[in-house]
Amino acid sequence: MLGQMMNFPLTIGSLVDHAARYHTETEIVSVNTLGGTEVTTWWQVGSNAHRLGDALTKLGLDPQTRCATIAWNNRRHLEIYFGVSGSGFVCHTINPRLFPEQLAYIITHAEDRVLFIDKSFVPLVKAIRDQIPCVEHIVLMGAEDADAATMIDGLTFYDDLIATGAPDFDWPEFDENTASSLCYTSGTTGNPKGVLYSHRTTVLHALAANTPDCIGFSARDVVLPVVPMFHVNAWGTPYACAQVGARMVLPGPGLDGPSLVSLIDEHRVNIALGVPTIWQGLLAEAKKSGSKLASLTRTVVGGSACPPSMMATFRDDYDVEVIHAWGMTEMSPLGSSNQPLAKHSDLPIEEQHALRESQGRPPWGVDLKIVDPDGKELTRDGVAQGDLMVRGHWILDAYFQSTAAETLTEGWFHTGDVATLDADGYLSIKDRSKDIIKSGGEWISSVDLENIALAHPELADAAVIGARHEKWDERPVLIAVRAEGHAPSEETVLSIFEGKIARWQVPDRVVFTDVLPRNATGKVLKRNLRDTFGDVLID
Ligand code: AMP
Repeated sequence: MLGQMMNFPLTIGSLVDHAARYHTETEIVSVNTLGGTEVTTWWQVGSNAHRLGDALTKLGLDPQTRCATIAWNNRRHLEIYFGVSGSGFVCHTINPRLFPEQLAYIITHAEDRVLFIDKSFVPLVKAIRDQIPCVEHIVLMGAEDADAATMIDGLTFYDDLIATGAPDFDWPEFDENTASSLCYTSGTTGNPKGVLYSHRTTVLHALAANTPDCIGFSARDVVLPVVPMFHVNAWGTPYACAQVGARMVLPGPGLDGPSLVSLIDEHRVNIALGVPTIWQGLLAEAKKSGSKLASLTRTVVGGSACPPSMMATFRDDYDVEVIHAWGMTEMSPLGSSNQPLAKHSDLPIEEQHALRESQGRPPWGVDLKIVDPDGKELTRDGVAQGDLMVRGHWILDAYFQSTAAETLTEGWFHTGDVATLDADGYLSIKDRSKDIIKSGGEWISSVDLENIALAHPELADAAVIGARHEKWDERPVLIAVRAEGHAPSEETVLSIFEGKIARWQVPDRVVFTDVLPRNATGKVLKRNLRDTFGDVLID
């Protein structure tokens, strides 16, 4: 016997329709690529999304045609998110920081037929135009632009395109498991791999993000997604915000500290989301300018481990709560977020603060386990470290154009992270498995060492690698970037580890460098550091 309840497919179009109908006048602030700020509303975003859906349909595209974007966080990008997916096409967001060859590879692999671009990326697309013959329509995200038109043959313009569509265009009906959007991992080795999300997984992910122990956006929030819309759908923020009608502030191309501080102060942002490196710039500027970030109450930090020193600065100097979250492109991305349990409220305040440092626990919909090299599950005691495996409602089954058999291990996805889990499900990420330091049969977490190093006031940045060692196989070496105007010695930097970890875990050396190499999503490229500094301990 089946239940006798209404059954509508869970679709992305329904999210923007809800926002447009019930949060009609709620504003979306958008920093334009060409400068200046524009204010639109959820009603206008919904209306333009329907126009776009109609316009794309009139182009005669087949259902699930991939329509790609190379764009900043702005209101047209938001309209494209909903307009493309809502009308049954696949919104493929591309990271412009990838190498041109990788861009061409991704576009070809995804068989993109439409490419929406912001003006900043016209030269980039012009340079690879010959390598992406699958693309039939290149659409500049703006009004007609004679200058850009001279650079790319056949360039069309977003504002003209949506003018050909009707705002009362009906979304087509389709199964909720239909593909909705596509992101490629920014793999540091080999070619990037595609993750093809569905309408159902996206809506369920948004519902989970909106539970109070995750992020819990509401119609009273002003949300600043600094995390780019080309990185795992800005962690799903546009969908989750539409679902509850939150006000959004889309920062455009300027992700520097001064731009972010003024956006937060001017638009009274109370929740911002981004990776730790972005917050370094923001905190430095707030300190310099004297801004108290008065409206900000929460930041969601993920993508790399959030150093406890950064959490303390947010908390103690700005009264901002950090929600430390962990996830992956393959997981839509939300896998865990750190919120306390009821029993924690009786603990001394220092212990409560320490408990907020880990990557938190999974929401309903995600299941985690850690295993040893033979695949045997390890205990959840907060001590045993193992390979982290995941499964759940918004976790990939197979990479795009691959199979589940090639992607999963007995129904679980192997994250490539090494972690501990405790009895309450709190996850602590120790490393990527390829980065963990194997010293004389013991494992040393580079993340733990980096967190300590980053608390040193005279360091701007730090990464720890396993350097080859004749006796111990590998030993930790700290690669450090000095803060501006400071020149700490190797000894003073190493002294910060004293009493914080076992002596055998203290790095053998500190090597100073000007800047750490990072990949397209801001993660430190440890492989490059190992290539450069991997032999510093060998005579
Ligand atoms: P991506 O698919 O680019 O989002 O990268 C996912 C990877 O980023 C994860 O497998 C982790 O290695 C890392 N990561 C994401 N969030 C965190 C976090 N809060 N702490 C430590 N590592 C993280």
